[in-house]
Amino acid sequence: MVISQPFWPAYLTAERIAKAKNLKIAITAGIGSDHVDLQAAIDRGITVTEVTYSNSISVAEHVVMMILSLVRNYIPSYKIVVDGGWNIADAVSRSYDVEGMDVGTVAAGRIGLAVLRRLKPFDMRLHYTDRHRLPAEVEQELGLTFHPTAQDMVPHCDVVTINAPLHPETEGLFDDKLISTMKRGAYLVNTARAKIADRDAIVRALESGQLAGYAGDVWFPQPAPADHPWRTMPHHGMTPHISGSSLSAQTRYAAGTREILESWFAGRPIRDEYLIVDGGQLAGAGSHSYSAGNATTGWNG
Ligand code: NDP
Repeated sequence: MVISQPFWPAYLTAERIAKAKNLKIAITAGIGSDHVDLQAAIDRGITVTEVTYSNSISVAEHVVMMILSLVRNYIPSYKIVVDGGWNIADAVSRSYDVEGMDVGTVAAGRIGLAVLRRLKPFDMRLHYTDRHRLPAEVEQELGLTFHPTAQDMVPHCDVVTINAPLHPETEGLFDDKLISTMKRGAYLVNTARAKIADRDAIVRALESGQLAGYAGDVWFPQPAPADHPWRTMPHHGMTPHISGSSLSAQTRYAAGTREILESWFAGRPIRDEYLIVDGGQLAGAGSHSYSAGNATTGWNG
């Protein structure tokens, strides 16, 4: 058995899984099991679980904080205070209101929809793309514009937030090509998984001004090396991987992990919401949110 957090993950690659002859279950204490080679787990009949729902709202709050921080230019303004300055013109030279901006989420699952709900009172125009459309009542209630693909959505947005799982369909989605179709000076917030964005394309876009800001809390690999370019690129608002690990969230995913362990040891079925892979196939929540294949290793270094 391996219990791992996404925040400091034990990468269960195909090679490690091949060596772990007795491994039967991998539990993610949190949400997001892309650090496990799901295809290898499927092939070897290993059960993969995560604590669905445990930190969705925690992440949604972090996303809203990051959007406001980037658009209002909070971090450089804070730094001016700490450095003893009062350069108001510098502080506001990149500061705007979010009101009236177009914001779009790539995926409107538990986190994406919670982000949209929280942004609604800021009078932003709300867009989303997802593999499945939300119920018409929800679209109407929030005034959502649906786009069939990320490619269709991003040219309309001043702010884009990524809330999809990392799997073969989303790996490398935000590359030079897609970023070049965004509005010049748009903001990108990615608290989903680092490899959904091309690391170096993000740096290039910030340096050229194609992106006005990038924030998020997910890196590859984790822990991020000291020389990771996202630590030093311009106009970023990165944090270490903390959005889903507030003390409030920890209480919930600790309880969920315990429940999974109790079910496993008692031979009781693990509830569907927690299952990602079981019995040699994607199962429960996993069959909805993920696709078969592997995203634990990759070109992004
Ligand atoms: P959900 O499963 O509720 O939502 C994910 C959504 O992504 C689903 O609606 C799914 O579509 C959609 N989706 C999947 N593939 C695509 C695609 N190719 N294009 C568009 N939409 C797609 O997950 P959560 O909202 O709870 O979490 C999302 C991700 O956020 C997690 O997988 C994890 O990686 C990350 N996360 C990060 C945390 C952090 O601390 N930074 C903490 C928690 C999660 P459908 O189901 O309709 O097919």
